[in-house]
Amino acid sequence: MRIKLLIILLVVNVLASAQSRHIINIPNIPGYQTLKCDFHMHTVFSDGTVWPTERVEEAWHNGLDAISITDHIEYRPHSKDIVSEHNRSYEIAEPLAKQLNIILIRGAEITRSMPLGHLSALFIRNANLLARDNVNDAIREAHEQGAFIILNHPNTKEQQPVWLDEYTQLLRNGYLHGIDVYNGNEYYPESFNWAKEKNLTVFSNSDAHRTIGMMYEQAQQRPITLVFARSRTEGGIREALFSRRTVAYFENSLIGNSSLLEPLFFASLNIPATPLYIQNGTSNLIFITNNSDIDYELELVQPGVGFDLPQKIILKARRVTPLEISGNSNEIAKTSTLNAYYQVKNLWINPEENLIITFSFRNI
Ligand code: ZN
Repeated sequence: MRIKLLIILLVVNVLASAQSRHIINIPNIPGYQTLKCDFHMHTVFSDGTVWPTERVEEAWHNGLDAISITDHIEYRPHSKDIVSEHNRSYEIAEPLAKQLNIILIRGAEITRSMPLGHLSALFIRNANLLARDNVNDAIREAHEQGAFIILNHPNTKEQQPVWLDEYTQLLRNGYLHGIDVYNGNEYYPESFNWAKEKNLTVFSNSDAHRTIGMMYEQAQQRPITLVFARSRTEGGIREALFSRRTVAYFENSLIGNSSLLEPLFFASLNIPATPLYIQNGTSNLIFITNNSDIDYELELVQPGVGFDLPQKIILKARRVTPLEISGNSNEIAKTSTLNAYYQVKNLWINPEENLIITFSFRNI
């Protein structure tokens, strides 16, 4: 009885200390749930400064759906104080993750000097078997365990911003599936190019060593990988990662394929379907509601025929923004559909290219 009470008190204590959960307003898109994830972080079991359960609490508090703790296999500076095998950080975090409904993916970071550098292996079954003298053996072992493998922060100082033959070899063997375009506070345009060229899944991960609170002022400032999954499960995430259905999200910029960014943009907005009555010399206001946490920065691509549109608009997060359309010639009387073409300056489909969207309005 006493033990039961003690357990209940401990559970209540953990939840109470997490205060409340932030809600990240990023909508689902047709066919998929949009999961908010961070697949790269450390604990005291490698070179981090936090206990594994802290990573789960942070994820819950910040409004994430899934995380992976990716402690280094080879680099464990606290090993005098923390004597343990490689699966321990996952095992300690797992019960709390279950309780808080955070999907915890078993992972590890294979950490070698160049040429291979740092690789995260997700969905592994036993991290101990990745501790091998030869890095190729470690990678092969991860692959045999069914791992999804990410090339981490490939352009930081200790690693060259060039695509190496070793990476090509990994790709040929089916040992490389994803790449960081954001890591910590850094952005890697080269990685974005490589992701396009080599069909790699894009990631935005914190690589947190300290607490998230020490790294970012607010929950929504941490790097997030948006995963478009058929279900909110580990299996759903795994399928989505191997199918490259991710968007890298950091500091109000989103990086990914147009096939994901476009539906995400439109799912964020509520645009009234009521027809317009615009003639030469008159104007209408269309009130666009942005229900998401993303500020969409729009810039006109080409002017309308017979009507004027604003050159720039910001559809602010969780605000209603009026879009003014004014007729400027008699041409407008002949057009029943008014198309407005904008590029979205914070949605990136290539390092130099923004997503272009079309608003279509009926004019009667
Ligand atoms: Zn790391």
